[in-house]
Amino acid sequence: MGLKKYLKRVGRYIIRGVPNVNVEVNITPIINGATLKDKIVLITGGNKGIGYSIAKRCVEEGADVIIVGRNEEDLKDVSIELGKKCKYVVYDVSNVKTIDSFYEDVIKCFGRIDCLINNAGISLHEKNILDVSVDNFERQFDTNLKGSYFLAKKVIENKQEGDDLNIIFISSERGLQCDDVPYGLTKSAINSLTRGLSRRFYKNKVRVNAIAPGVTASNMTGRKIEGNKFAENQVAQRYFLPEEIAEVAIFLLSDASKCISGEVIACDAGQYISSYY
Ligand code: NDP
Repeated sequence: MGLKKYLKRVGRYIIRGVPNVNVEVNITPIINGATLKDKIVLITGGNKGIGYSIAKRCVEEGADVIIVGRNEEDLKDVSIELGKKCKYVVYDVSNVKTIDSFYEDVIKCFGRIDCLINNAGISLHEKNILDVSVDNFERQFDTNLKGSYFLAKKVIENKQEGDDLNIIFISSERGLQCDDVPYGLTKSAINSLTRGLSRRFYKNKVRVNAIAPGVTASNMTGRKIEGNKFAENQVAQRYFLPEEIAEVAIFLLSDASKCISGEVIACDAGQYISSYY
């Protein structure tokens, strides 16, 4: 440090005094079966695929869970399977005009929200920009981006002062690459939103991260959980399982990852990193 900078610092301390901020950090290890004890988790699209796997693991780790989707039959089946720690609310996330009454129904379930998993999403699998219609563009942006954006806003504005809030977006490796179709563009925006919200609200005890899966078994990809998982052209030489994505979500939801915020965690064995290999 130069003399000028040193003298400036000394001057600052003389005028303002030593900052009197007491910061304590409690490190919380992961405890199997109780990692999310007493937490209340809201998961959009929790009735199938990646959302279902996250909901199941949250319940196993002691959380109360509210799952959300458009298909009531599927929601009811999952809620019966997971027992009284899992309730559901029917809601189309793209229909943000009804978000107030939806949120009232959510709060009636367990009284508050500690964690939000913005997972509901669709891909209409266009090949390139020349395949994209205005209708398909709007459907994907309304579900993947607008729905997630306004739900994040809702939980942040309803957070009580002093409470912790943990938000996870389910993005995609597509959001880490360049793209010309709506799906990838919605996920790029989600990644930016993750960083932006974290930067703005971490000081208010809001933690925000995203998970960016690679090709994962689900209805969206048509890949099956059972049987051979071989996938050519993949670094991992296989596709991924929703249960693997759920484990990463549990870690990010847990207090063991309190020092992580604003990150987009790729779960694709590095597939998104372009290389010459
Ligand atoms: P699925 O198609 O298996 O599940 C999608 C879920 O989202 C369903 O629960 C569905 O419920 C819900 N959903 C869709 N649209 C709406 C809506 N408008 N309102 C409320 N719920 C809705 O897909 P995945 O599990 O694969 O996808 C989950 C997330 O993971 C998505 O955001 C996807 O982009 C992302 N992802 C998936 C990858 C993969 O390879 N599978 C890779 C990278 C990211 P319902 O039908 O009842 O509305």
